Amino acid sequence: MSLSLYSPERIIQLLNTQGNDILKLMAEASSKRLHSHITYSKNIFLPLTELCRNECGYCTFRKDPETINNSVLMYPSEVILRLKKAEKYGCREALFTFGEHAEELAPVKNILNNLGFEDMVEYLYHLCLETIKKTSLLPHSNPGTISLENLKMLKEVNASMGLMLETTSQRLMSTIAHEKSPGKNPWLRLQTIENAGKLKIPFTTGILIGIGENIRERAETLLELRRIQDKYGHIQEIIIQNFQSKPGIAMENYREPSLLELIKTVAVAKLIFPDVSIQVPPNLNLETAQIFLMCGVDDWGGVSPLTPDYVNPEAPWPEIKELELLTNEAGFKLKERLAVYPQYMSPDYLSDWILEKIDKMENSYKTRKQ
Ligand code: SF4
Repeated sequence: MSLSLYSPERIIQLLNTQGNDILKLMAEASSKRLHSHITYSKNIFLPLTELCRNECGYCTFRKDPETINNSVLMYPSEVILRLKKAEKYGCREALFTFGEHAEELAPVKNILNNLGFEDMVEYLYHLCLETIKKTSLLPHSNPGTISLENLKMLKEVNASMGLMLETTSQRLMSTIAHEKSPGKNPWLRLQTIENAGKLKIPFTTGILIGIGENIRERAETLLELRRIQDKYGHIQEIIIQNFQSKPGIAMENYREPSLLELIKTVAVAKLIFPDVSIQVPPNLNLETAQIFLMCGVDDWGGVSPLTPDYVNPEAPWPEIKELELLTNEAGFKLKERLAVYPQYMSPDYLSDWILEKIDKMENSYKTRKQ
């Protein structure tokens, strides 16, 4: 009896594919690609604060309150200044990222209160609204695990939002990866992703492989995302991210997933999600990026022409020209997209503010192209 693709046993079998069957797996996944071009979004990365209530064993973004050298919080004037610069580079997405529930830490809380905000979500709402009113960019926010009410508020001012599921493994909550990270409780993360589905928020999520999860847990994580997508249909893209050991992190001496593990995971994700864009960040795997095009990757994600990837500062973004060359060489065209995918550009999914802005952006884009 053949197993359903949507059973953990079948996915485990596929993730364990060996020899020439790996090539067959890649070819099958590649045939499921959504379109013949590979998309990317030209963005600017705005790390509002590097303080975070969590302490993940693989994180290089978070700073300790005692040792922070940079400013604790990016002020509104700085945000607008950066966005204005991004406009000049033709960026169309303002990516807001920050440490989760940073308002739980006194240095952030004090500044927020002095600025007249209760918490990071209120502050983020203000900045997204400023972005809509004063710039030509569309906000995309990654606010961490937040309530349904907060998601509802942020939906008004965001084209799309994101939260990496990473893993559904509860077991990792007592390992070096997540033992100091209450926000990495899979239940909380699933709840946020499901609530975004209930509210019809176009959503980006993904899995992180190589942080101590086993193959069954990896399969279960993909299946949980499939279950949510079947129920709500709001997931526009799924990122497959690989753990990278870096000097100074708690997991510095842990083994990274091999290239084959990554290839198989990307291919299996594409088979499970023929209806969702599969994304592999090219800056994390530049030397091997082309190979992922052979196993079904649809999208390179956000690529910034002017800001580093603050989450992976040692991995600079490729120049867009370089990305185009390596995409073309593999037989695909590179195509710019907005922070929200076309199938979600409707009043069901987007506020009037965002829809009006998209209209304006598309008109000015068409004018520039003429
Ligand atoms: S990975 Fe994210 S949640 Fe974890 S410590 Fe770093 S910034 Fe915080």
